[in-house]
Amino acid sequence: MSSFDRATPHAVLGSDSFEHEQVVLCHDPSTGLKAVIAIHSTALGPALGGARFHAYASDEEAVADALSLSRGMSYKNAMAGLDLGGGKAVIVGDPARAKSEALLLAFGRFVASLGGRYLTGCDVGTDEADMDVVARVCRWTTCSRTAGGTGDPSGATALGVFQGMRAAAHHRWGTSSLRGRTIGVAGVGKVGHLLVEHLVHDGARVVVTDVRAEAVRRVVDTFPEVTVVADTEALIRVEGLDVYAPCALGGALDDAVAPVVTAEVVCGAANNQLARPDVEQQLAERGVLYVPDYVVNAGGAIAATRVLTGDSPQQCAAKVERIFDTTLAVLERANAEGVLPGAAADRIAEQRIAGAANARAEERASRAG
Ligand code: NAD
Repeated sequence: MSSFDRATPHAVLGSDSFEHEQVVLCHDPSTGLKAVIAIHSTALGPALGGARFHAYASDEEAVADALSLSRGMSYKNAMAGLDLGGGKAVIVGDPARAKSEALLLAFGRFVASLGGRYLTGCDVGTDEADMDVVARVCRWTTCSRTAGGTGDPSGATALGVFQGMRAAAHHRWGTSSLRGRTIGVAGVGKVGHLLVEHLVHDGARVVVTDVRAEAVRRVVDTFPEVTVVADTEALIRVEGLDVYAPCALGGALDDAVAPVVTAEVVCGAANNQLARPDVEQQLAERGVLYVPDYVVNAGGAIAATRVLTGDSPQQCAAKVERIFDTTLAVLERANAEGVLPGAAADRIAEQRIAGAANARAEERASRAG
């Protein structure tokens, strides 16, 4: 594997809107590790965010993803009321071929070199077993149970998305029950599958799709009442769809989807669902309510903090369930201020981050004085 391209630093520093505290390009030729660790903000505390392992088309794409995902983590953690900043790592390569114990150890040593400014964990392409390896050389992991962590956070994420969806139902239809609603879940992997379970138990009619036949089979074997459609294109056009839940990859809401999605509400687990911010406006013009992804998918981040707070599983679940209230507060603020939910959520998160940054600056100034 080659080292980073000469253009890579430009991809970090060349952006007009560069706002990150620290970006580390990690390269270990002996194991083939190439990774980017982006720390967006530590105003609220150490930067928390998982490690994504993905076959990026270019180094610039990897850097851009790390920058965007780490920024999203700052907003997500602030919105969830966590005393944690936002960070993210991306490891460049196809996890099925490039992942090795030596590479994960090399990655762990880079994370450890940051001395706790960044806390890593599972994300797309990495799992708890990987974090068990990372934890052998690095104290700052959240997923490895053998190292005192909380394991795969997908269950908490699914619970939070379910609570966010109930809040959106309350806001839109005056009842938080999803009984009788038709809900389309695109992507029934770790989170999507567990979301289906909550929805079925709540009495919803569930329609699913996934590019992996095995994932679809697992859902249908467990919940035979679920309907399957061929692909996401078919799912978003289902007649009478009440909620569309994107639970696969980012960018699910784009210029092709916004004009045709039949659902009244979009609420799902995937990070960075809006391909561009203005897609939310396109949806709103058709009366479609978009519930900001980072508001409802924070359950995993909340669960990850158990390593820091020492909360019991029950205390943690109670915190995740509060995503209902957080979501409702965002939707009500959007109405009160005449803005879209995305803008309302950003304002709340930015106020909390700025408040912490100002308090820290004042503390430093008073110590210096
Ligand atoms: P996963 O990889 O287990 O599941 C994703 C599923 O989507 C897979 O089954 C995959 O086959 C399917 N998929 C991919 N492309 C698709 C397409 N075009 N159409 C239909 N299905 C497609 O990942 P996950 O952990 O369940 O995470 C799902 C999403 O939620 C990701 O965007 C992730 O970033 C986000 N998220 C996850 C967590 C968590 O705790 N796991 C937390 C916050 C956000």
